[in-house]
Amino acid sequence: MNTHEEHRGRQSSVPECGPSEVDFAGITPELLAKYDRPGPRYTSYPTAPQFHPGFAAGDYASALESASRRADEPLSLYVHVPFCEARCTYCGCNIVISPRHGPELAYLDALERELALVADRLGGRRTLAQLHWGGGTPTYLTPAQCERLFGAITSRFHLAAGAEVAIEVDPCVTSDDHLRVLRALGFNRISLGVQDFDERVQQAVHRVQSLELTRHLVERARELGFGSVNIDLIYGLPYQTPEQFSDSVGLVIRELAPDRVAAFSYAHVPWIKPHQRALEGLPLPKGYEKFRIFAAAAERFLAAGYRFIGMDHFARPGDELSLALDAGNLHRNFMGYTVLPATDMIGVGVTSIGDVGSCYVQNEKNLARYRKSVDEGVLPVERGLARSAEDELRGAVIRRLICTFQLDFDWVRQRLGVDPETRFAAELEALRPFADDGLLEIDSRAIRVLPRGRFFIRNICMPFDAYLSRDAGKQLYSRTV
Ligand code: SF4
Repeated sequence: MNTHEEHRGRQSSVPECGPSEVDFAGITPELLAKYDRPGPRYTSYPTAPQFHPGFAAGDYASALESASRRADEPLSLYVHVPFCEARCTYCGCNIVISPRHGPELAYLDALERELALVADRLGGRRTLAQLHWGGGTPTYLTPAQCERLFGAITSRFHLAAGAEVAIEVDPCVTSDDHLRVLRALGFNRISLGVQDFDERVQQAVHRVQSLELTRHLVERARELGFGSVNIDLIYGLPYQTPEQFSDSVGLVIRELAPDRVAAFSYAHVPWIKPHQRALEGLPLPKGYEKFRIFAAAAERFLAAGYRFIGMDHFARPGDELSLALDAGNLHRNFMGYTVLPATDMIGVGVTSIGDVGSCYVQNEKNLARYRKSVDEGVLPVERGLARSAEDELRGAVIRRLICTFQLDFDWVRQRLGVDPETRFAAELEALRPFADDGLLEIDSRAIRVLPRGRFFIRNICMPFDAYLSRDAGKQLYSRTV
C-alpha cells in the first residue's frame, strides 16, 4: 500500500447517484434518534484522542528528516495563532484569551524559532503548495505583525506558483488595512467566521457581529482580488430554529455570495470546554430539531445552486472542492475537506497538528511549555502517533467513504491490496442495518451511500474505526447530529 498514492486515486466506477445528491426529507425523527450518538468527525484516522505522549520530539525529528528525502514534493504548512480578544461561548478551539495585546510579541519570537527548528530538519525541502493561518484569530496580529510572521515563513520556505495561501479571520477584529496587507503578501483565500446573523443568537453566544461589517469585509476582499471567500456558520446554537437559521442563510447567500460555506454542527463538549456550560441554561436545539435546522439551511444552499460537498461543506459548482468531488480526489484533513495540495502537512504554533510521513504530531497546548521548548531548541511536541499499516488501511477506507460517499471494492483491492469482502466482513455486516434503513447499499462491487444516508456519513465510517470499541464508555466525541 502506498500511503500517499492512495489519496490521489480516482473513482474506478461511476456512482449511481450524483456525488452531491442528498435527501433530508426521508429522515424521520426515529431514524435520526437511532443514529444520533457520539462519534468522530474523522479529520484524521486514528483520531486525536488516540495521540499519546509516547510520541515525542525525537520521533517528530525522525519523521521530518525522512520527509526531507522527498525533496521534490511540496509541503503544506499550517500556522496557529491562538489569541482572541474575547471568548465566544460555543468555541471549541484551542485558544488564549487576551483582551490586552502584548503576549503575541513573545509568541512571534517562538514561532520564528520553531520555523527554524522545522526547516533545519527538512533540509532542502522548502516549497509550499499550501499555507494556512488559523486560530484563534490570526488577525489578532496587527498588519505589521502579519508582515513579520509572513516574512519569517518566506525566509525559510518559498511558495509554489499557484500556491493556496489562506487565512481565517474574525470580522470583528479585522480591518481594511489587514486585508490590504494580507493580499499584498500573497494571501488568496479568506475564511470569515459568521456563525449566525440573528441578533438574539449572537448575544447568547457572546459574538455580536453585524451583517454590514461582514459584508464590507467580503466586498473589500473581493475588490482586493482574494480569489475565494469562505463563510463559516454554526447550527445548533441557542435560540436557533429552522426558519430563523434559514433566514440567516438567505442573507449569507444574497449579501455575501461566498464561494464555499462550512455549516458546522455545534459540538457541545463541556467536559473538554467547561465554558460551554454557560449555554446549558439556554434553549439549545438538540436531536431532530437540530437536524431540521441543518436541513433547512442545506436546502437553501442547494436551491441557490451550491453543491453539497459532504458532512458540513457546500461549494459553488465551479469551486475546486466541487470539481474534486466529481473527480473523486477530494481529501479530508485537520482543516476539513480540501483538495490535497501536498502529502506532508507541517503544523507550527501552540497546539497545532501536523501529518508527516506516517505520523501525526501535535504541539504543546500550553503556551508557556511551548515557548520553553522552542527556546531550548527542542521541537515542541506534546503527543502524536506513528500510524501502523492497519491504521493506514482503515484511514484510507474512512477517507474514501467520507470524501466520495462510496467504497469501490476494486479500488480497495488495487490501491490497498486487500480483499474488502473478507478483510472487512465484520464491518460490512455491521453496515447491514444502515442498508435496511435505506441509507446505503452494498453489493459485490461496492458500498454506495444513498442520498438519505449522506447526512449520516460519520456513523457509516464508524464500523471501520478499530479504536471506538476499545474506547466504549469514554466521553471523547461530540454527537453525530
Ligand atoms: S473568535 Fe473563533 S477562536 Fe476565538 S473564541 Fe470566538 S470562536 Fe473561538
